[in-house]
This record gives sequence, C-alpha cells and structure tokens, in this order.
Amino acid sequence: MLGGDETTTINRVTTAPTRSPIDVAIVGGGAAGLATAIFAARRMPGRAIVVLDGAKKLGAKILVAGGGRCNVTNRLVTAADFCGGSRNFVKRVLAAHPSADTVSFFREIGVELVAEEHGKLFPTTNRAQTVLDALLAEANRLGVSIRPAHRVNDIHPSDGAFQIEAGGTTICARHVVLATGGQSLPKTGSDGVGFGFARALGHTLVPVTPALAPLVLEGGFHTPLSGVAHDVELTVSAAHVKDVRLCGALLWTHFGVSGPVVLDASRHWHRARAEGRDVEVSLNFLPGRDFAAAERMLLDLTAAAPNTRLQRALGRYLPARVAQAILENLAIDGSTSMAHLRKDQRRVLVHGLLTWPLPVRDSRGYAYAEATAGGVSLSEIDPSSMASRKCTGLFLVGEILDVDGRIGGFNFQWAWSSAWVAARGVSGAGTSQPEQEAN
Ligand SMILES: Cc1cc2nc3c(=O)[nH]c(=O)nc-3n(C[C@H](O)[C@H](O)[C@H](O)COP(=O)(O)OP(=O)(O)OC[C@H]3O[C@@H](n4cnc5c(N)ncnc54)[C@H](O)[C@@H]3O)c2cc1C
Repeated sequence: MLGGDETTTINRVTTAPTRSPIDVAIVGGGAAGLATAIFAARRMPGRAIVVLDGAKKLGAKILVAGGGRCNVTNRLVTAADFCGGSRNFVKRVLAAHPSADTVSFFREIGVELVAEEHGKLFPTTNRAQTVLDALLAEANRLGVSIRPAHRVNDIHPSDGAFQIEAGGTTICARHVVLATGGQSLPKTGSDGVGFGFARALGHTLVPVTPALAPLVLEGGFHTPLSGVAHDVELTVSAAHVKDVRLCGALLWTHFGVSGPVVLDASRHWHRARAEGRDVEVSLNFLPGRDFAAAERMLLDLTAAAPNTRLQRALGRYLPARVAQAILENLAIDGSTSMAHLRKDQRRVLVHGLLTWPLPVRDSRGYAYAEATAGGVSLSEIDPSSMASRKCTGLFLVGEILDVDGRIGGFNFQWAWSSAWVAARGVSGAGTSQPEQEAN
C-alpha cells in the first residue's frame, strides 16, 4: 500500500536501478491487466509500466462480452455473487473498489453506464468497443507501454527482479502482475498457460473447471424445444453437499440447455464431477411452488374451467411446446379435460413439473464457457495488495485466481476490483521492500 508520503515514495523509486528498467510488467492485457496498468500508472506517474499480451489485438474478451455490449459490472455486487476461495477475501477486495467506483472510473474515462434488468450495467452506447477503446486510450494517455503480439513463454525470478521471455525478447521487470485469465474461450488467448507460470513461481492451483457454460443433455426431450425460453428453478444435487437452487431464464437448444440459470448452475455440476461426487440436476417448471401449491393450482384450474383441455390449461404457466413435451413424455393425453384428469395422473404430473430430471452429459466446455472456476489459491495471496505470499514482487489479478462470479457483470467487477488492489499493492511494494528492489 502507498505509505503516508506518496511523493517521497515516487521520488525514491523513480531513481530506478538500471538493471531493472521496467517497474511493472503486466502479463496479460485483458480487463484485469489493462485496469491494473491504468490504476498503477495513476498512482505512480513516470514509472515504466508495460502490458505484454500474446494476442495481436487486445481485449477480445471485452469485445465479445455481454453479446458484444459488455456487461461492465452490476449495481449491487457482494461476495455472495462469487464462488471459489474465501468469501472474506473476495469481500475485502470488493470493498476496496466497489461497483460504484467502477461506475465513477468509467465515467472519468468517458464511458457512461446504464442499468438494465437485474442491475446489469452496460455502456450507454451498447457497444463493448466503447469500453475497450476507453481503457486503451486511458492507458496510452498515462504512458503505459502496451505490447501486443508479446506472448510470454517464461517468467523467472532473478536477482530481486524477474526475467520475462516474450515475443523473442527478454524483459527485466521489478514487479510482475499475472493477469493471464483462466481457460474460457481459449481462442482469445486465455488458454490457461498462466496457471503454469503461477505454479512455477510457487503457487498451488485449485483444480480448474469450466464455469458459466451451457449444458449438453442426453436423450431427445430438448430437441423439439430448441429456441424456447422460460423461467425455471434448477436444483443441483450432489452427494454430501447442500443442494444448490437457482432461479432464472432457461433456453432450450439443439444440444441441451443454456440461458443464465443454466450457466450459473454449470460450475456446481462441474465442481461436483471434478470432486468425484454423484450429481443430478433437476428442473422445477413452476418456480416458487412446492407439491401442495402445484396440486392446488391444478385443482383451482379444474374448478374454474373443468372443460378446458389439460394442455391448454398448462399453457397458462408454460410455453405451449414445453407443456406438450411434458405431457407426451409422461404419457398423459393433453386433450383430456381438466375434469377428467385422474388423481394419479395429476400427482404424476405435479411430480414431473416440480422435479424434472435433466440428464446432463457434460457442459460445452471451455470453448463455450464464460468463466473458469478454480485457479490460484487465495490462501497464497494477500487481499490488501494481491501480492503473492509465495514469490516476492509477484501480484495476481482477475480470473487466474480461484474466484468465479455468476452471470451479471460480476466477473468483470472482480477484474476491476482486484486490479485496483494490485495497483495499490504494486505501488506499496515500492515502499516496503526498497533494499530488495535496489539489488
Ligand atoms: C463470451 C464471454 C462473455 C462474457 N461476458 C461477460 C460480461 O458481459 N460481464 C462479465 O462480467 N464477464 C463476462 N465474461 C467474463 C469476463 O470476460 C472474464 O471474467 C474477464 O475477461 C477476465 O478478465 P482477465 O483480465 O482476468 O482475463 P482475460 O480477459 O481472459 O485476459 C487475459 C489476457 O491474457 C493474455 N494472455 C494469456 N496468456 C498469455 C501469455 N502467456 N502471454 C501474454 N499474454 C497472455 C490473453 O491474450 C488475454 O488478453 C464473459 C466471458 C466470455 C468468454
């Protein structure tokens, strides 16, 4: 953290040793890396800050985010919106740079955000490009050296600094910030290689799995429903852990299911499988209703309109195609009038509506996942600075860490918050370890 006398700190550190011309090398120029560069450059004007990225053009993931509109953050972000390592750790990092600060930051760099459903904040331009352009312009304005097509192959500590092999050159830096992301959408350049750097520098990895990924189903129930979306409650039940219940929109697809509630559920399915636990996913077509309430609903429908056909009656609560598929699957004739629905059929129907098993074969994997669960263990990171507890001078930010947020702008907020804390840490590291850095 910056000490009491920031000016003194900067003056002292700007007399940088010639053997370490670069003060901060940020490996990875995605959301977390670019934000770290900006926040660090604001704190330490005049210091040499470099962003190295393997991609020819930076920000691929920012550009595809939110369907090309970039859901930058959420109005309300709490530690409960995240899974992974210590909730207390996440809480501290979010508190240091909450989503309100993200809104202010983007306003400062010329991007106004507007709230949509569920508190999601998007740029008023509705274009992710606006977000990326503003970040790059601010980094340039602050004198950050951005080097695309510099894929880092190796990072090793050397004489109190780091030697970084990138793009055929060797760069010497006094501090390294690992911002290489996770493994989701590897074609963007985030292919998990950063995990290897972290491990080589002494860190432990919590096993990684895809998160926020569509789910592939067995059987053919989903096939005729492709394209239909509606609200459901999903339950992920794994042996020896509490059930996870999630509500939201589900989209039936040709391969299985997608939509926000499915994406959020996918990490729980994957974690259970990775931990060797049996796991089942079931669907409640009538979110918020239990058996008694659902049966009451059907009885009320019968009393109000006894001659209405069952399929039509169900259509008040479900898309017609879904109602038809359920009835066909349960071998209940949809043309039966409500008055003629037998008690045993009603009970089978209610049971089916509330606990429909989803035969999950797998998720669509990293190629379609929006995030990575698992990563560098938080127990090895200082939450006040994002500094490694294993390797002096190393900092870690963003998705490389064992933190994954739910759908709604939370993963980017983690990138901005952890970046802000790391910038504070990098500037503070200059004050707290002068002897080592002057080596
Ligand atoms: C399709 C999609 C949509 C999404 N939409 C949203 C959304 O709307 N809102 C939200 O909050 N989150 C969203 N996310 C998640 C969000 O994009 C990520 O959580 C976030 O980008 C992580 O930021 P990061 O900087 O940690 O990692 P990344 O954005 O993955 O950046 C890592 C960077 O490191 C570089 N890199 C990797 N290895 C090396 C190396 N060896 N040398 C040099 N450079 C390297 C990569 O090229 C990349 O530029 C979405 C993700 C996807 C895939």
